[in-house]
Amino acid sequence: MESRDKLARPLIFLGPPGAGKGTQARVVAERLGIPQVSTGDMFRDHVQRGTELGRGAKAVMERGELVSDETVVAMVADRIGQPDCAHGFILDGFPRTATQAERLEALLRERGWEGALAVNFAVSYNELIRRLTGRRTCSVCGEIYNIHFRPPKVAGRCDREGGELVQRADDREEVVRQRLEEYERKTRPLVDFYRQRGALVELEANGQPEELTSRLLAVALLALGLLDGRVS
Ligand code: AMP
Repeated sequence: MESRDKLARPLIFLGPPGAGKGTQARVVAERLGIPQVSTGDMFRDHVQRGTELGRGAKAVMERGELVSDETVVAMVADRIGQPDCAHGFILDGFPRTATQAERLEALLRERGWEGALAVNFAVSYNELIRRLTGRRTCSVCGEIYNIHFRPPKVAGRCDREGGELVQRADDREEVVRQRLEEYERKTRPLVDFYRQRGALVELEANGQPEELTSRLLAVALLALGLLDGRVS
């Protein structure tokens, strides 16, 4: 697939925390030559740099709650307006509330997109807990590992350049449970929102990462307008 091919519709990776959205968005975006727009990564970057936005978001994130719609929508509006998003992008972790989904629709319309195509990652609750509490991220390059089923070659060190692997503050078990509650209350209703618009692809995401990647690349062809029908 050529990176200059424009996606007819940007992709949304929708699903609970720990479903593998970030891991997959990274790989699929790279393969398609389009940016991954991860609101979680953007907030973590602000927190790390100590910006005003980061100082406001830090405590909310550490409690496992959602940052205000106004803050996140402004951040996304700015990001997707940048030139590298002109040929499409993958939204990972956004939208997470009905208000965010509605604001996104308006933003996309204003910018000439037909609307987004959402992929819903479905994973069982116990598997989510295992993935989230086992997750470790490279403090240098952001590569994602899991101590249970994707361990690094050397414990605590990234395979790429040996960066230190760290656990996200919000991946501790009590915060994980709070994040999953927030998901159930505020984000799960978006599955219906996109289904009603005929803009939802269901992805059973308990499987192996490589297998999910190939299914997602097939979905990307749908978003490119090259394929019709359902990908299961
Ligand atoms: P994530 O890495 O996507 O799990 O996001 C980590 C944290 O960042 C979340 O638990 C929220 O506190 C915040 N966050 C990320 N995306 C959003 C969003 N779309 N709306 C509100 N808060 C968000």
